[in-house]
Amino acid sequence: MLKVTRSIYFNKREEGASNSGFIVRENDVVFVDNSDWLGKTKVDLDYLSAHIGKPIKFLVNTHFHPDHTFGNQLFNCDIIASDKAPELFKLNEMELLKWLREENDPEVLQNLRAIKITYPTKLVKDRTTLDDSHPLIKLIHLGGHTPDSLVVFVPEENAIFTGDLIFQGSHPFMVGSNINEWLSALKWLKSCGATLFLPGHGEPCSRKDVEFMYSYLIKFKKSLAVLKAKGMTAEEIARKPEMLQLPQLDKPQRIARNVLFQYEKV
Ligand SMILES: [Zn+2]
Repeated sequence: MLKVTRSIYFNKREEGASNSGFIVRENDVVFVDNSDWLGKTKVDLDYLSAHIGKPIKFLVNTHFHPDHTFGNQLFNCDIIASDKAPELFKLNEMELLKWLREENDPEVLQNLRAIKITYPTKLVKDRTTLDDSHPLIKLIHLGGHTPDSLVVFVPEENAIFTGDLIFQGSHPFMVGSNINEWLSALKWLKSCGATLFLPGHGEPCSRKDVEFMYSYLIKFKKSLAVLKAKGMTAEEIARKPEMLQLPQLDKPQRIARNVLFQYEKV
């Protein structure tokens, strides 16, 4: 856990795994996201009780993806998410069954067998301020990466948890994403006043990284449309993703799946 502002702690996990963090308030703590490994979520919770010692009032899920929510069951508090999230959590039930069927590694299987899909208990429609405890926390639904993507903004500290609207240092995961909505979300992020951006994957970053993410999505969309107009199929492009001429980043294996999902939409 890294202390990144007066009240915000951030766990930048290794190798592009999903990040989590928390905000320490006057009498309690607001947690943001967790992990698809229960053990990793427990490490965060142990850190919190050893170093902060305040109770967790809320857990916020920035979106439903398993690597941000499969630790939900370990939180004995209200879980807040967008009102678009519960429908999408149903996909996690199916995803978990699929992983259980296909997984061979005994250690991974043991982790998966212990997971109980735990739904949010409080829903945010468009935007809300959590309550009047300081620092104030604003939750804003933006969509884009997923229909339920929501950001956690702490204006008093100019910091914002962006969830997976920003992938810093790696190719984004764009299966199920709406690129145009994602671009609008990034425009909002650029102008919201935050100077510290805490992404779902990668290092804490700046407005420059929001701009980079924006130009990445524009490039992806345009390049895919050009290749499609030339008569190439989604499968042909997915086999040779270098044709998209995207920047060099970690996790290039994500590009093929992104192409297969986004091809019909560009
Ligand atoms: Zn995600």
